[in-house]
Amino acid sequence: MASGEKSLSGKVALVTGSTSGIGLGIARCLGAQGADLMLNGFGEAGSIEALRTELAEGLGVRVEYDGADMMQPAQIAGLVHRTQATLGGLDVLVNNAGIQHTAEIKEFPVERWDAVIAINLSAAFHAMRAAIPGMTSKGWGRIVNIASAHGLVGSAQKSAYVAAKHGLIGLTKVAAIELANSGVTVNAVCPGWVLTPLVQAQLDARAARDGLDIEAVKHALLTEKQPMAQFTTPEGIGGLVVFLCSEAAQTITGAPLSIDGGWAAA
Ligand code: NAD
Repeated sequence: MASGEKSLSGKVALVTGSTSGIGLGIARCLGAQGADLMLNGFGEAGSIEALRTELAEGLGVRVEYDGADMMQPAQIAGLVHRTQATLGGLDVLVNNAGIQHTAEIKEFPVERWDAVIAINLSAAFHAMRAAIPGMTSKGWGRIVNIASAHGLVGSAQKSAYVAAKHGLIGLTKVAAIELANSGVTVNAVCPGWVLTPLVQAQLDARAARDGLDIEAVKHALLTEKQPMAQFTTPEGIGGLVVFLCSEAAQTITGAPLSIDGGWAAA
C-alpha cells in the first residue's frame, strides 16, 4: 500500500445496525479507510438520509442505506444481495445489530427471548450464509461479529443476550474453521460497556430505580463488572475492526477479541 493510500479503498462493507451507536462508529472507521458502505438499522427516514449524506460527503465514499429487519431471514439475505448489486460486491460484513432485554428467567417474556436470539444470533447466520459465496469466489473477505463480554461470561437477568452472544462466538469459530483456507477470516469482537442508546436505557432504568443521579449510576455500572472504570468508545471498536481487515491480521481467525476494560479477565 502506497503511503497516503487508504487501506480499504475499493472494498465494500456492510454494517448491520449502523444507524446508531457501535455500528455507526464502525461504519465511520471503515469509510475513513476508503470502504464504500451499506448502512442498515432503524430510525427516522430524514435523519438516516442526513447521516447517509454526511458520511458520503465527509468520507468521500459511496454510502447506501437499506432498512432490512434483522428479525426476518428473507430480508437479511435481500440486504446482502442488494449490497452486492448496488455497490458491486461485499468484502467486509460486520454483524452488529443487537437488542437487549433484562429480566429473570422465570419472568422473561417468550417473545423477547425470541427477538433477542433472532437479532443478536440468527441474523449473523443468515447474513454470513448469504455473503460467504461471494467472498470465497473472490478469495478475500472479512466477517466480524460484534459479540460482547457477555459472550464470555454471564450476568443475572440477561439470559437471552448471554445465550445469543455465547452462541455468536461458537458460530464464529465454526465459520472460521470452514473458511480457514479461503482468504476469508471470521472473528468476534467482545466489547465491555460502551455508552450507546442500548446502555443509556439501562442507565436510565437504574437511575430511576435507585434514585441516583446518572453520573453515580455510570460509575456503579462500570465498576461492578470492569476493572477499568471507563467506557469503550464506538471508534475504539471501529479501530479494532479496521485492524482485523488489515494484512497484519490475515491469520487471526476464529478469535473472540476482548475490548472490555479487563471485564473478562476479572
Ligand atoms: P444501539 O441500540 O445503539 O444500536 C443498535 C443498532 O441496531 C441500531 O442501529 C438499531 O436500529 C439496530 N437494530 C435493532 N434492531 C434491529 C432490527 N430488528 N433490524 C435492523 N436493525 C436493528 O446498540 P449498541 O450499543 O450500539 O449495540 C451494537 C452491538 O454491540 C449489539 O450487538 C450489542 O449487543 C453490542 N454490544 C454493545 C455493548 C454496549 O455496551 N453498548 C457492549 C457489548 C456489545
